[in-house]
Amino acid sequence: MTIHEAHQLLKTKQLSSVELTKACLERITQVEPGVRALVTITDDLALKQARKADELIASGDTHPLTGIPALIKDVICTKGILTTCSSKMLENFVPPYDATVIERLNDRGVVILGKANMDEFAMGSSTENSAFFPTHNPWDLSRVPGGSSGGSAAAVAAGETIYALGSDTGGSIRQPAGFCSITGLKPTYGRVSRYGLVAFASSLDQIGPLTRDVTDCALVLNAIAGYDQRDSTSVPEPTPDYTQCLIGDLNGLRLGVPREYFVEGMQAEVAQAITAAIGKLEELGAKVEWEVSLPSTPYALAVYYIIAPSEASANLARYDGVKYGFSYQDADSMWDAMEKTRQYGFGAEVKRRIMLGTYALSAGYYDAYYLKAQKVRTLIRREFDQAFEKYDALITPTSPTVPFKIGEKIDDPLQMYLSDVCTLPINIAGLPGISIPAGFADGLPIGMQIIGKPFAEETILKIAYAYQQATDWHNRRPKV
Ligand code: GLN
Repeated sequence: MTIHEAHQLLKTKQLSSVELTKACLERITQVEPGVRALVTITDDLALKQARKADELIASGDTHPLTGIPALIKDVICTKGILTTCSSKMLENFVPPYDATVIERLNDRGVVILGKANMDEFAMGSSTENSAFFPTHNPWDLSRVPGGSSGGSAAAVAAGETIYALGSDTGGSIRQPAGFCSITGLKPTYGRVSRYGLVAFASSLDQIGPLTRDVTDCALVLNAIAGYDQRDSTSVPEPTPDYTQCLIGDLNGLRLGVPREYFVEGMQAEVAQAITAAIGKLEELGAKVEWEVSLPSTPYALAVYYIIAPSEASANLARYDGVKYGFSYQDADSMWDAMEKTRQYGFGAEVKRRIMLGTYALSAGYYDAYYLKAQKVRTLIRREFDQAFEKYDALITPTSPTVPFKIGEKIDDPLQMYLSDVCTLPINIAGLPGISIPAGFADGLPIGMQIIGKPFAEETILKIAYAYQQATDWHNRRPKV
């Protein structure tokens, strides 16, 4: 069920939130042995919140999210509920406060089913970097669900939850949404508060929804978007009602297709499916320019893998075994304690990022790597600005391939990094992007990415909605 379908049933009293919540919990029990999307199940809390939501509904609360079950990526702080970032470092960490997005969902009568598995500290593209266990793709359990929000995406696709929250630093909402054939939105940098989101790379991170369709995406964005004085990078602008732009008509819209996103080595079926999907957008009234060029695109991956690890190395310095989280006890000295805490608390990918980051920031290398990357970042942003003078949105594949096999890329970091080649430029430029289902190759999902101008979430939602009105890829469900 989608949020809007469930809401209709709740509103007309054909279904109670308790019944809906129990159905989700039963589904979790059924499919979790195969999918493994959840690291924590909060069944008691969920039923308590559902009972409260039923009371709210009985007393006339008609908010579309009231009483709807949700799953939260385990990088978002939830008061009194374990928040592990799928890391041994935070295995026992219970935050004393809620993230702003959680406060906002609580105000809307959310039912929290639990916390979703992820790549450790959101570093990865397959959820194999979880310190606990990998999550499996509901379309084919031998394959990855994408990452780092793989638990969130797999759970929505497998019907374990109605919707989920994820975070996206270089593609972590859109790429798993694409791999699991659901809808995932990364808002413009500054649109959604990062307060209470455990920091990976602060200039790139954003929280966003993973849902079954575009209407649901707009509903969740309505609830979580907006200024928050506790996040100095959140933008003090009013937010529109994102459901108002869902009208199904693309007349007058100008779309560009940047050729650099059809990268070398891209799977032929992916390019074919996206070309066909863009043809559909043309049929729906959009004017498509097929030969747009954003020449700095090939540098985006290198820029990202300097900036993101640099910021991560600073952000992760706080895990020292003193303030909170894992603490190595049998040490000889303070330095030894700190070193062993980090040696045992962090997994291999996190350590790799910290080493890359501290290297790029160190005296003598700072100018050559970090500063240079920041300059190229500006060039990438400028090229987008120029393209958006001519086009209302840009259309690309979400990933160059369909979901790969578990284990296939885990020993080859560069191959793994390449799975985000189409999504990370969007974080570098701070733009909004959405991934929607756009086809299948041999039963495996293909996602289409729609990129918008800063704060033009409405435009990309409108395009995505029109596409979903005219196609039924988003209605297919995996047999898990
Ligand atoms: N896969 C990318 C990385 O490993 C992006 C992750 C993310 O968006 N959190 O950094």
